[in-house]
Amino acid sequence: MKLPNCSTCNYSFRWKELFFTFGSKKCPNCGVYQFITAQKRRQSVWVSPIAAAASAIFLQWAGLPFSITIPIVLTVVVLALLLNPFFLEFTEKEEPLF
Ligand SMILES: [Zn+2]
Repeated sequence: MKLPNCSTCNYSFRWKELFFTFGSKKCPNCGVYQFITAQKRRQSVWVSPIAAAASAIFLQWAGLPFSITIPIVLTVVVLALLLNPFFLEFTEKEEPLF
């Protein structure tokens, strides 16, 4: 897994700079705003809910009680957020979503 680079100056973003990045991010090196590509934005919208739903369904199927299911589902959602920076891809121009 690899963190994305600035599309203008090729600066390597750090993980903590990208945590909670869902729209655009100003490059700390060259100052140009970087936009997450439309494709990646569409994907990231689905990652957390699908991860949460899939783990909830699996845990219900495994017969675990709700008191165990909820913390595990929350952990999965947090993990998905923590891993989000690795799946970002930047472009200089804002692309329309559709
Ligand atoms: Zn840059």
